[in-house]
Amino acid sequence: MADFDALRDRMVDIHLARRGIRDERVLAAMRAVPRERFVGEGLEEFAYEDSALPIEDEQTISQPYIVAAMIEAAEIAPGDRVLEVGAGSGYAAAVIGRIACEVIAIERHARLGKLAAARMASLGYDNVDIRVGDGTRGSPEEAPFDAILVAAGGPSVPESLREQLAVGGHLIIPVGDPGDQKLCKVSRVSEDCFETENLGAVMFVPLIGAQGWREDGSRAA
Ligand code: SAM
Repeated sequence: MADFDALRDRMVDIHLARRGIRDERVLAAMRAVPRERFVGEGLEEFAYEDSALPIEDEQTISQPYIVAAMIEAAEIAPGDRVLEVGAGSGYAAAVIGRIACEVIAIERHARLGKLAAARMASLGYDNVDIRVGDGTRGSPEEAPFDAILVAAGGPSVPESLREQLAVGGHLIIPVGDPGDQKLCKVSRVSEDCFETENLGAVMFVPLIGAQGWREDGSRAA
């Protein structure tokens, strides 16, 4: 049986800290969450390689470095309420939950949502609430959120998510055509003023929904 605790520490040291992740809270959270519990069955031995891995419904659990980089960019503080769109395996939501006070994570595939919720229950991560639905609409009744992280690439920044961001909050989202995505950091500076920063090229599965792509690859919004 592999020593997953040792492998996790090594991954954090080599793939995250040495590559520039500085936020101690992010590093501690990545050291705490057992990624081997979130990867597909039979893939546990690859859990601490710095790569995306397949999960059910032809989706992926994101590469650890990009999970850490997105969470660091979102500048999440203890006490924050965070929305994640694209819960997938639930791994990133679990990491965010080690830093924030409350996480609402939305996944469009019911089976993935059910599996992610079961993982949260078995790990006792009771501040992470996994929902099934179209995350491009966010969760207006629970807004505003101090941070919003989107783990799938849309054609543009969904207006609903922009509106649901608290003043002073940050929205991290991959934007662009498949194969030409950029990670954007949208910061709400005041009620009507947003600033957008390009954090570099990324590759994510498509954000499919009312304010994302249609299933046929055309733009819904
Ligand atoms: N954060 C995930 C993790 O830690 O495992 C990685 C998720 S994967 C890269 C992106 C996920 O976004 C997929 O599970 C996909 O089904 C989901 N997704 C795509 N469009 C969505 C939408 N409109 N609402 C909610 N989830 C969506």
